[in-house]
Amino acid sequence: MSTKQFDIVIVGGGMVGATLACALAEADFRIAVVDSAPVPDIDTSDYDLRVSAVTLGSKAIFETVGLWSGMESQRLSCIDSMAVWDEAGSGHIHFDSAEMAQPCLGYIVENRVIRKAALDRMQALRNIELFCPASVSGIDNDGNSISMRTDDGTLLESHLLVGADGANSYVRHWADIDTRSWSFEQKAIVATVTTSEDHGGVARQRFLATGPLAFLPLDDPHKCSIVWSADNARADALLAMEDAGFLAELHAAIADGPGTALGDMEAVSQRAAFPLTSAHAQHYIDERIVLVGDAAHRIHPLAGQGLNLGLGDVAVLAEVLVESQRERRDIGSLKVLRRYERWRRGDNALMLTSMDGFKRLFSNDDPILGGLRNVGLDLADTLSPLKHRIMLYAAGLAGDRPKLMRGLRP
Ligand SMILES: Cc1cc2nc3c(=O)[nH]c(=O)nc-3n(C[C@H](O)[C@H](O)[C@H](O)COP(=O)(O)OP(=O)(O)OC[C@H]3O[C@@H](n4cnc5c(N)ncnc54)[C@H](O)[C@@H]3O)c2cc1C
Repeated sequence: MSTKQFDIVIVGGGMVGATLACALAEADFRIAVVDSAPVPDIDTSDYDLRVSAVTLGSKAIFETVGLWSGMESQRLSCIDSMAVWDEAGSGHIHFDSAEMAQPCLGYIVENRVIRKAALDRMQALRNIELFCPASVSGIDNDGNSISMRTDDGTLLESHLLVGADGANSYVRHWADIDTRSWSFEQKAIVATVTTSEDHGGVARQRFLATGPLAFLPLDDPHKCSIVWSADNARADALLAMEDAGFLAELHAAIADGPGTALGDMEAVSQRAAFPLTSAHAQHYIDERIVLVGDAAHRIHPLAGQGLNLGLGDVAVLAEVLVESQRERRDIGSLKVLRRYERWRRGDNALMLTSMDGFKRLFSNDDPILGGLRNVGLDLADTLSPLKHRIMLYAAGLAGDRPKLMRGLRP
């Protein structure tokens, strides 16, 4: 049995854990990344059914830690503008990148493309060691260091253990950190759809009484990735349909207002569905333990913010750890980790609550609320300072932004 020493062990090498590893390795920490899934043989010839809307703030993080060029060299697309409207009535809001003096409002990147760029980068950095496929057990926290065993019996010792292992985090369970969680009794159906007309770089989202439907523009102007949230029974029925029936339902759901520009729904890829839940850990930290990404919080995908919040965690945690290392402080101590928790938990809680409020306000066929929604959308569209504020916030360009989000090394 061998023992290996690291500064930091990250359990979970998904999009969040891998980005954190690259950010910390740049700062000369010795990092171990343990992931239970095998190193994927990532084939990007076909579109991934899972894509992420990446904000400008998150793009800055990816650029600064050396992942963005890897994504650009594969495939991604620019969101030039965004249209949001409601099934009931004619209210709508339209965001244009020109209003922010930016070339894009954000980007659509396939999850597979992000993972491949991150994996390539991790393998190129000499101070990251990947344990994959592997899981950890026998965690022991003696107060001065934390150790754990991998499946092959290797003992990993470090000053800090990061739980980046997703919604069902083993690290969070091991540390006995409670979460507040709730289910929307909905599923999100994802697929790639071919339309007869050019999407024009517009991200479209229509709020239906049964849940939001988003069309996200891919690099092929006739292809969009869809995220269609619907109550469980409706989602199951949509999943069970033949392609032709599904495309007819999809056309009926989007062919209104800004959706008419897409023309006919010509083809659909295979479909997949994800149950929609929200969850928030009561704490993000314990002595020598810290949670990031979906391990700490899970949010409804209607505003495409889950990954972006996780990357915000990465930027703040990297900054806190690098500064503490510079000041020769113990990076696993509660004193150091509390700064991260204070900086992130309030922001994340606000986003989770706002998205839940949005979801309840829009997934509702009450005629009074319908009227209010339409007035609200139109009003927000015409009040430029409010609209500008919403745009900056959604793009990750407002608030107390950590260095990585501003394109600076921590
Ligand atoms: C339909 C849908 C659409 C979405 N769209 C967007 C969007 O447009 N924009 C956006 O910002 N977000 C979006 N999200 C949210 C986003 O996908 C998640 O927030 C993001 O994937 C979280 O990343 P993560 O790395 O924290 O967790 P995960 O992606 O879950 O990664 C966890 C990693 O940990 C590993 N792991 C798990 N358990 C263990 C263990 N015990 N030991 C070792 N390794 C382990 C797993 O193999 C995995 O690699 C969407 C979500 C859904 C469901």
